[in-house]
Amino acid sequence: GASLPKPARRRVLTIANQKGGVGKTTTAVNLAAALALQGLSVLVVDLDPQGNASTALGADHTSGTPSSYELLLGEITATEAIQRNPKNPRLMCIPATIDLAGAEIELVSMVAREGRLKTALADSALDGLGIDFVLIDCPPSLGLLTVNAMVAASEVLIPIQCEYYALEGVGQLLRNIELVQAHLNPALHVSTVILTMYDGRTKLADQVADEVRGHFGSAVLKSVIPRSVKVSEAPGYGMTVLDYDPGSRGAMSYLDAGREMAARAAANDGRKGEA
Ligand code: ADP
Ligand code: MG
Repeated sequence: GASLPKPARRRVLTIANQKGGVGKTTTAVNLAAALALQGLSVLVVDLDPQGNASTALGADHTSGTPSSYELLLGEITATEAIQRNPKNPRLMCIPATIDLAGAEIELVSMVAREGRLKTALADSALDGLGIDFVLIDCPPSLGLLTVNAMVAASEVLIPIQCEYYALEGVGQLLRNIELVQAHLNPALHVSTVILTMYDGRTKLADQVADEVRGHFGSAVLKSVIPRSVKVSEAPGYGMTVLDYDPGSRGAMSYLDAGREMAARAAANDGRKGEA
């Protein structure tokens, strides 16, 4: 496909929602693949000990593999942990291994415990890789791993499932974002909201979509991700839906979402240039 505009500066997004099963990981890997397929270089940082993003990206994540765990501990550099996708080298992953499960507790007693991922990603060796987007996949909690992600990023991307109680817990997420913004990272803001698992046959899905748009306004992407069995099957083959079934509605919707995000970056860059 055609190449998307490169952002003027590397954009770092945290994909957060402490509710499990809303599509955080699915969005992280498929959006990353969509951006990479359209010419951008993208790094996914897997911060969930379950390692589902690593699996979907075909990254090795057996215990002991250089991963986000050693990175947070400061034992390795980011470039040492990066694995490139076998099909698209522009798509990169820092995997999560089960070792990360202990990190939430181990981090508590460490110095600068909230800023360890930010420090690791500030490594100048990363600049040489020309990374345009970093997408950080968070675990379903608001603990220290998610706080590290929010300190390392300037943007938050919130996936919201088009289901009952879609906005449940979002208030708490927003308060946490405000706390991080006030005390640790003034640049942090919710830049993007993406509606996932949309079922156009139900009235409920439209009601949820309207409610979310009322709440978040223009932060909500116009592209909506449909509920699709292809999307849920792909990780079982160690693939994103863009590899598994490139012509599927799920793949198309993530390509659209990626285009929309990249276009916004270009627009923002332009405004900054005028100022
Ligand atoms: P989270 O990371 O927020 O816990 P996941 O991305 O793992 O959520 O998604 C939860 C489950 O829903 C997974 O089994 C995933 O395959 C499935 N899923 C996610 N998005 C879709 C979709 N658009 N259509 C169908 N199933 C989906
Ligand atoms: Mg997940």
